[in-house]
Amino acid sequence: MEKLKSILDELNNRYFGGRVRVKEIRLMKKKSNRIYGRFNREGRVIEINPIFLTNENALRFVIYHELCHAKQRFRKRRHKWHTKKFWALMRLYEGYKEEYNRYLLFLKDYWLSIGHLTQAEIDEWLNETN
Ligand SMILES: [Zn+2]
Repeated sequence: MEKLKSILDELNNRYFGGRVRVKEIRLMKKKSNRIYGRFNREGRVIEINPIFLTNENALRFVIYHELCHAKQRFRKRRHKWHTKKFWALMRLYEGYKEEYNRYLLFLKDYWLSIGHLTQAEIDEWLNETN
């Protein structure tokens, strides 16, 4: 999808001098309430949950997240994705805190709209993540 590719290239150029290698970026075949994006190390493919197509800021944020995974160097076959180093990369994103909160609000609205979570469950979840 052209839109995904252009955001990816823009973020890669801006934050990593265009040096992070990603072969392909595409939408996940199905919407998911659990997986927002993923990076496949072997194929170097990023997949993005289609729910984000309706919100440009959240979309960019998720693409940046996966790009940071693509930037990671893994020594072992079994590895941890969300390391301290990883979060340090995430925080380089311009306006990180605000963007992260906007992203959480987008998810909250989305989950409410599909009845995936109740308001009380969402409040509890937001307290945990903040
Ligand atoms: Zn991740």
